[in-house]
Amino acid sequence: MNTAILHLGSNLGDRLQQLEEARRQLQLFCGRIIRKSAIYETAPWGVEDQDDYLNQALILETKLSAQQLLEQTKAIENRQGRERKERWAARTLDIDILFYNTDSIQTQDLTVPHPRIADRRFVLVPLAEIASEWIHPDIGLSVQQLLESCGDKGEVKALPG
Ligand code: ADP
Ligand code: MG
Repeated sequence: MNTAILHLGSNLGDRLQQLEEARRQLQLFCGRIIRKSAIYETAPWGVEDQDDYLNQALILETKLSAQQLLEQTKAIENRQGRERKERWAARTLDIDILFYNTDSIQTQDLTVPHPRIADRRFVLVPLAEIASEWIHPDIGLSVQQLLESCGDKGEVKALPG
């Protein structure tokens, strides 16, 4: 069994429903969600002229390889109507693989750990809620330490409830 940590994002349509449907399909096609963070509302990053995102981090137990998991998460994104336009554009659903066990993976279509974890508060805040002690295998610091040294000041606030 493998442990993957995923990060979900949505800023188009019924964002809460998109995240819920993503979790449902992850359990159906990928494995078992053993932990989930609160849902956070966050300012867009990269391209600022778009609506706020909802983000959530998940810990998934899976029998899939990292490559198989990427294929399945892309299929879930596509079934939820994601259109690939420019980088960082608004999307109904984004699923990123942050960590896969303690592996470092570099292939044409997959980089794990996800290369921009340490730069992004909207990733680190939900991640720290569920995996603060997780060590980034390439940097050698915990998620909590990465959050404390992150220069990004973007607003990331948990939704009530
Ligand atoms: P971003 O999430 O950075 O906004 P996209 O979701 O459009 O960008 O992803 C673009 C490509 O990133 C995907 O086609 C996928 O093959 C690749 N990719 C590389 N590493 C990862 C990863 N760890 N998790 C998810 N996608 C990844
Ligand atoms: Mg993505």
